[in-house]
Amino acid sequence: RNVWRLAHRPVGDIADGDLVYGSEPLPDIAEGQFSLRLTYLSLDPTNRIWMSDQEQYMPPVDVGAAMRGGVCGRVVESRKPGVNPGDLFAGLGEWADVMVTDGTGLSRLPEIPGVPLAAAFGTLGLVGPTAYFGLLDIGQPQPGETLVVSAAAGGVGQIVGQIGKIKGCRVIGIAGGKAKCDYVTGELGFDACIDYKSQDVGAALDRLAPDGIDINFEQVGGDIMVAVLQRMKTFGRMPLCGLISSYNATTASEPPGYWTMMLMRRLTVRGFIVTDFAPRFAESGQALLGWMLDGRLKTRQDVRPGLDNAARLVRELYTGGNFGKLLVEVTPP
Ligand code: NDP
Repeated sequence: RNVWRLAHRPVGDIADGDLVYGSEPLPDIAEGQFSLRLTYLSLDPTNRIWMSDQEQYMPPVDVGAAMRGGVCGRVVESRKPGVNPGDLFAGLGEWADVMVTDGTGLSRLPEIPGVPLAAAFGTLGLVGPTAYFGLLDIGQPQPGETLVVSAAAGGVGQIVGQIGKIKGCRVIGIAGGKAKCDYVTGELGFDACIDYKSQDVGAALDRLAPDGIDINFEQVGGDIMVAVLQRMKTFGRMPLCGLISSYNATTASEPPGYWTMMLMRRLTVRGFIVTDFAPRFAESGQALLGWMLDGRLKTRQDVRPGLDNAARLVRELYTGGNFGKLLVEVTPP
């Protein structure tokens, strides 16, 4: 099989050689195990966190181990009762074309007529539940409220904004570049989008949300987060989903001013990890699928071919090179 292994923990940006690609024999399939041929590998900002040994929400990937990733694929050979060749699974796996597993961390992915596998996996996998629970449980959107979402054209952001619209909010996205902004306003129905690469975010927010912001769905951190925080309404809510602008940083930055704003405005800020909501994934899956099938939720996947490109492609997440949920097509579906 072909597999990517973590050779070194990156320092700063992921560098050539931090991950190494090679061929190796497929491990034997023991009783209770099966082999899975990957269709798609999900590349996610958190991959960089897993490569580090910073404090995090699950164990870091060990140096020398196969790189962990979100996967979807079909069973090739099974020694596990009830699992048959051709069955489709998704969940946590390895950056490999074939993996051997006992099924831990994986669950069956339904085949949905009319929904391409990339969209089903790319939406119902982890980004959809992240958007669903982060916005609905933590953001508590009410009709007429103003919702700001950063990384708006990405995997999670595009879904957050559309759920916000379904719930009657006024939705302002923040994204890098005109094409992404045109997509979220033109195709997805966001009310406005700020191109942080060519506009002053604070000035644009003053113009677009003169009365302040009720909900900040935070995904990037840094200057963009500060500009939003400064314009939050008292008793606003901030689902803290991600801080991608700092994932490659070599020094911790945590200006105390952020916390002063949270106190003065009495914000509810809650960090969350989508897996906190795993017992309720059936609920999010049903809602997201319903909205997809009735045309209220559109999602865009950015599918690139070739497992051998994965280490180069994952870096695009930190420069905005992806447009939509980034997936590697390992084997044609
Ligand atoms: P995206 O598809 O949104 O890709 C990442 C995007 O982030 C890029 O396309 C880029 O968009 C933007 N970005 C990258 N660097 C910066 C920067 N320095 N400043 C501003 N924007 C930047 O990825 P996901 O949807 O998978 O993830 C989005 C966020 O959600 C991440 O922070 C991720 O860690 C988090 N997340 C958290 C989960 C949880 O359980 N808490 C689960 C899943 C994701 P642009 O071109 O617009 O700059």
